[in-house]
Amino acid sequence: MTGEVNPFESLQAQIDDAAGYVDVGADVLERLKRPERVLETTLSVEMDDGSIELFTAYRSQFNGDRGPYKGGIRYHPNVSRDEVKALSGWMVYKCATVDIPYGGGKGGIVVDPREYSAAELERLTRAYATELRPLIGPDRDIPAPDVNTGQREMNWIKDTYETLENTTAPGTVTGKAPSSGGSAGRVEATGRSVMLTAREAFEYLGKDIADATVAVQGFGNAGSVAARLIDEELGANVVALSDSGGAIHNPDGLDVAAAKEHKVDTGTLSGFSGAVEEFGNEDLLTMDVDLLVPAALENAIDGELAERISADIVVEAANGPLTPRADDVLTDRDVAVFPDILANAGGVTVSYFEWVQNRQRFAWTEQRVNEELERVITNAFDTLTETYETTDAPNYRTAAYVTAIRRVARAADEAGVFP
Ligand code: NAD
Repeated sequence: MTGEVNPFESLQAQIDDAAGYVDVGADVLERLKRPERVLETTLSVEMDDGSIELFTAYRSQFNGDRGPYKGGIRYHPNVSRDEVKALSGWMVYKCATVDIPYGGGKGGIVVDPREYSAAELERLTRAYATELRPLIGPDRDIPAPDVNTGQREMNWIKDTYETLENTTAPGTVTGKAPSSGGSAGRVEATGRSVMLTAREAFEYLGKDIADATVAVQGFGNAGSVAARLIDEELGANVVALSDSGGAIHNPDGLDVAAAKEHKVDTGTLSGFSGAVEEFGNEDLLTMDVDLLVPAALENAIDGELAERISADIVVEAANGPLTPRADDVLTDRDVAVFPDILANAGGVTVSYFEWVQNRQRFAWTEQRVNEELERVITNAFDTLTETYETTDAPNYRTAAYVTAIRRVARAADEAGVFP
């Protein structure tokens, strides 16, 4: 990971790249490049030993013209104001790409959760939820999990909000445990949309996914499910996987489900008996495979690395895994990159289904969730490729932004300016 590229500048560059292909005024476009508001707050949290520790936390609400702000909450030492702003903007364009009625938001706390007990993390999360309370709610802003947060944190946020508001409002957050109003299929949803995007991409490009070799960088929620579904449902040959500890490789294919069990048991992919060799995780990115799925963090691939990528197709599971320079290099090299705002939109799409179910107080079956998700992703894929073919957009990312910007700009135009 380069760490040198400001993700907010990446987002703005992506919008600028698309600007030439949309008929939107410069003033509107400028508005669509900046968040509406960003909360920055200092949380005071009691540690188990009685001391008080301070944490910096953010929530960015980027644009609400198409519906409530929507987006995850990240716990990571590298969380920054600009990262949160960028991630909230990507949510706007992601929701618009798959045409679900949400704006975009994102939050984060500067923390390495591995250094804290569950009780400390609960107090931290409840302190954060208390700060967020005036800003969030089922009709305002709906948080969800992101890196290092999951059902547990969502349940704490929901409970804090409901207690302070003296109500029941499960649609305040998504990604909850099923027993607390979570949706069937939510945990798998991001990986499932990555798999669906890969399936559609290979079909669109006239290639056979069942013959393909695949490398997946990052083996968390997004990467591990994507790898398993690409293996099990598409029959592709997943030959390499990595996590922050390094990469594992087997040219004959890895048993992804068994690798997951190994990771759950030992905390790392390293030492998995089904691998024939291990190497540094950067080497995975340049392997000679048909499909590369970056599923770790942003800026994993910079311009220099992009020169050495051998895959023909990249499907982005992570948010912003390519720097703008890497994007340019891969476009010049005719590598087909299917962007994050389509490929990983399954998470927010099933979050939307969860919110709909919460509002209806009626739970869908997993089969219904997966069928609706497939419909949303394949429709979005078809719209994206149609835009690509009809606008001369240089790559699929720009085509996705063209589609999304048109939709957001139309809603902004219809809303007008208040007062
Ligand atoms: P996670 O914390 O569950 O997993 C992250 C994985 O990346 C871990 O396996 C970690 O070991 C690995 N990793 C970190 N640095 C690495 C490196 N340098 N090389 C290789 N692996 C590395 O997080 P997640 O929820 O899977 O999210 C991953 C990405 O997907 C993020 O960009 C996130 O914003 C995006 N995303 C996630 C969801 C979701 O529903 N979880 C939805 C949309 C987008």
